[in-house]
Amino acid sequence: MMVGILGGGQLGRMLVLAGYPLGLKFRVLDPSPDAPARELADHVIGSYEDPNALERFARNLHVVTYEFENVPVSSVKLLARQIPVYPPPDALEVSQDRFVEKTFLQDVGVPTPEFARVESHEDLHAAIGRLGLPGMLKTQRLGYDGKGQFLLKAAGDAEAAWKALQGMPLIFEKFVAFEREVSILAMRNRDEKTGFYPLVENRHDAGILRCTFAPAADLTPGLQSQAETYAVRVLEALRYVGVLAIEFFQVGDRLIANEIAPRVHNSGHWTIEGAETSQFENHLRAVSGLPLGLSSAIGCSAMLNIIGQLPEPENILSVPGAHLHTYGKSPRAGRKLGHVTVHAPDRDSMETRYAQLHERLFGEKPGTAH
Ligand code: AMP
Repeated sequence: MMVGILGGGQLGRMLVLAGYPLGLKFRVLDPSPDAPARELADHVIGSYEDPNALERFARNLHVVTYEFENVPVSSVKLLARQIPVYPPPDALEVSQDRFVEKTFLQDVGVPTPEFARVESHEDLHAAIGRLGLPGMLKTQRLGYDGKGQFLLKAAGDAEAAWKALQGMPLIFEKFVAFEREVSILAMRNRDEKTGFYPLVENRHDAGILRCTFAPAADLTPGLQSQAETYAVRVLEALRYVGVLAIEFFQVGDRLIANEIAPRVHNSGHWTIEGAETSQFENHLRAVSGLPLGLSSAIGCSAMLNIIGQLPEPENILSVPGAHLHTYGKSPRAGRKLGHVTVHAPDRDSMETRYAQLHERLFGEKPGTAH
């Protein structure tokens, strides 16, 4: 079976790596000649909007999937006329726009922060008046890793944020004083069977995911079932096929959804070593019509992103339980170049190994920042 992936970044690369043992073959479409999946799959270099590139990409494919959510919906819909595309284009459309996404989540019964659409200076002041401060002003589209967003703490912060973002459709959200950020990876296959990984805890810095702890510490069955209930609402409303991530803020024992990603997700990288079946394999099983694999965690894991600069492999691999994944990208400040997962049979030994790894990667013991 030939699988097409829109996007040849690290997620595409890890999908391909997971697909080889299943006997799948791959073609990726990515405008960059240096795309991380380039060495592992047939690579069509071209723009996602170019009909010729799309035609070359589509040839002899049995199924198409995507690895990032800013692929033009029109291109995906064009492909969907000839080849099954999973997750469905509707899921992509919903996730591309924060206003559409939060409206959808509320419509299907998933709580979100309070929000308001901002299209003018007056809208911004009305939104601040109605929802209060602190709040976040974000672009509706094309925001990721904390880009295109401002925290407004006091009324005086509004003007600078407005100056930087005006002209783009915006959303103002009430700031959620969360205890921690967690996410669930959920999946549904072509036979409508569903599965869920345990909730994980994510720590961000400057809007970028730094590390994930899996399962989240002190995870209660109540919290897990709350996340699964919300995930089912999303999966069913979208007639979803594939792996889907939902990021939540945890406030007490309540989950408030921040974002959905209709794809494999950075907070699921730990599943390669830390779960019975990885998110990448399960995504491929789901989209290619195969039964889903078990999603239970084996022991405890922590995943640390490698950002900006690659470490010496010896330094990382000499920590027991550590696994290094590099993405074949050239170093650049703020760029995700790889990740390390450290795995152990129980939480205490995982924490010890994590602390060791943290020190080797960042030259300091884990504190509140990581
Ligand atoms: P986003 O790009 O919307 O995923 O936001 C990136 C990060 O900013 C989140 O992971 C949070 O750490 C923080 N953040 C975003 N929106 C809010 C909010 N409404 N309240 C509190 N923190 C937020």
